[in-house]
Amino acid sequence: MAQAGFGEYEMTRPYDSKRILVTGAAGFLGSHLCERLVDQGHDVLGIDNYFTGRRANVAHLLGKPNFEIMRHDVTFPLFVEVDEIYNLACPASPVHYQYDPVQTTKTSVHGAINMLGLAKRTGAKILQASTSEVYGDPEQHPQTEEYWGNVNPIGPRSCYDEGKRCAETLFFDYHRQNNVRIKVMRIFNTYGPRMHPEDGRVVSNFIMQALTGQPITIYGDGSQTRSFCYVDDLIEGMIRLMNSPDKVIGPINIGNPGEFTIRQLAEKIVEMVGADAELVFRDLPVNDPLQRKPDIGKAVALLDWRPAIALEDGLSKTIDYFRLLVSDRRSA
Ligand code: NAD
Ligand code: UDP
Ligand code: UDP
Repeated sequence: MAQAGFGEYEMTRPYDSKRILVTGAAGFLGSHLCERLVDQGHDVLGIDNYFTGRRANVAHLLGKPNFEIMRHDVTFPLFVEVDEIYNLACPASPVHYQYDPVQTTKTSVHGAINMLGLAKRTGAKILQASTSEVYGDPEQHPQTEEYWGNVNPIGPRSCYDEGKRCAETLFFDYHRQNNVRIKVMRIFNTYGPRMHPEDGRVVSNFIMQALTGQPITIYGDGSQTRSFCYVDDLIEGMIRLMNSPDKVIGPINIGNPGEFTIRQLAEKIVEMVGADAELVFRDLPVNDPLQRKPDIGKAVALLDWRPAIALEDGLSKTIDYFRLLVSDRRSA
């Protein structure tokens, strides 16, 4: 007898489609992931507590027979029947995750325990959206998965960094102790349409500032580096990792190895928006990593994945998205 599904779609579900749970579904990455999985014909259940996510991000999916979304906080148990779980729930921008740091750690740690408990009971495969922040302010450059990191356990970023590190520990212990099928993905800075315009991350900040005629705020002297991955590339890597053989458990870096200083990024965005914006310099936040760039050798070898979208092309799509958002706000 077929296992119970999510609803009426179960009756007509394509033979090879799966019942997939996405936590953090109304967020930036979650909404793009749901879109891709729904397009592939899977039966997708999104959950979100709407802390940083927005209903508008998934509004276009609501009429589809193979998508549903439910308000739920991952720090509480959840009982559903699923084949795969993508665990993305967690605020990702420093401004948002430092707003309620205790809740941030709870989301990573209690959320991981609940989703791993669910995976253990159902036999589902589970992917954790971990982060390059597990490397902290790295002393190794570029960062390989073998590097253990340089993280301050008691600073303002620790609620996020240590929460994510503990979640990785839980994933590996559930794998060793309970044979849960795990996939741990270390995501490096990713950008694109549906980023929250006020989340304080560098790409959204600079584009919003350039579009609204405000000065571009560079923290520190702008010589710190980041590598920026366009969202479509990231989602492709995430799905490839989930679909890889069970022995591929990670951790695996997914990001774009192109490295830019924050000042270069500011200048590029100002030029592309065509703005006449002034660059202003502000204090560097505490424990702000000086450099970050993924070594993606494992992703290339194990997933045949590499980013395909150049920074300029990705920025152009992202600027179009924010331009529309700003004009909608002006006419509202
Ligand atoms: P986001 O803030 O847009 O999305 C996170 C989503 O999780 C939001 O919809 C939020 O409402 C939801 N959420 C938060 N706490 C929750 C809880 N307790 N229960 C249920 N839902 C909750 O961020 P994002 O950029 O889409 O990031 C998604 C995931 O990817 C996060 O786990 C983040 O740590 C990870 N990640 C993202 C990046 C990046 O550059 N975007 C980099 C590294 C890791
Ligand atoms: N859990 C859940 N959904 C399930 C199964 C478990 O949310 O379908 C939660 C459960 O409430 C528990 C956590 O996952 O708090 C860990 O479950 P596990 O079975 O590993 O531990 P135990 O229940 O023995 O504490
Ligand atoms: N940053 C900046 N101006 C801003 C926002 C961020 O110079 O308006 C810097 C920030 O200090 C950091 C880099 O840009 O060095 C990336 O910041 P973000 O918050 O996007 O991500 P993370 O620090 O988590 O990589």
